[in-house]
Amino acid sequence: MIDFHCHLDLYPKPHDVAQDCVSRGVYVLSVTTTPSSWVGTSALAKGAPRIRTALGLHPQLAHERHSELALFERLIEQTDYVGEIGLDGGPEYRAHWDVQCRVLRRILAICGEVGGRIMSLHTRRSAGAVLDELSVVPLAGTPILHWFSGTQRELARAISMGCWFSVGPGMLRSENGMKLVARMPPDRVLTESDGPFVRQGSRAVWPWEAADVVPMLATCWDQSVSEVGARLLTNLRCLGESAHRAVSTASQP
Ligand code: MN
Repeated sequence: MIDFHCHLDLYPKPHDVAQDCVSRGVYVLSVTTTPSSWVGTSALAKGAPRIRTALGLHPQLAHERHSELALFERLIEQTDYVGEIGLDGGPEYRAHWDVQCRVLRRILAICGEVGGRIMSLHTRRSAGAVLDELSVVPLAGTPILHWFSGTQRELARAISMGCWFSVGPGMLRSENGMKLVARMPPDRVLTESDGPFVRQGSRAVWPWEAADVVPMLATCWDQSVSEVGARLLTNLRCLGESAHRAVSTASQP
């Protein structure tokens, strides 16, 4: 089981959820929304080799937390994973568009300097602009567009740029989401929960419920559930290997 975009630290009892992930054998990318939460969130992954903690600065918080970019820069050497980062073009965050762009640009530049990070990106109503920013810094690493909700045209561009995608139960509730998933290359997809933001009835979805999308992926791609399960694990392994390759390429003179 793979949950490649989860806000472990935002569950009411994060330690219990992390321990449940360990006992269920879930691979988790535990994303953060601010650099100042990274150290505490990393502690949740202690003794849990399948939980990786990403260093993030969420676009919805960019206007309040841009001063934490210096901390982001200090912490980047400690992790191969970056997220949640990106842009949010929704009406509530439009007023902060310029600062969001400034923050994302700086983060990508920092990632470009160290090279080869695995980046979980928020692209709500902003896919074109995020892809523009990514295209400037190809050595920043491997972008994984989480809960992609752009157009088919934007999807095609993202694929041509080498982006990966993490797909969760929230995304597959919409017809547009299903149509997008059907066009995603199966060798560049991982599952995610986006918990605790995604709800299942009256409660937050659990990280291991990211596995609920596997049968839907199987339908979209006309494959068996076990084929898709094996595919996802292979993808996870390839992603790690590609990141290491990118790091060694970037560090060559
Ligand atoms: Mn998220």
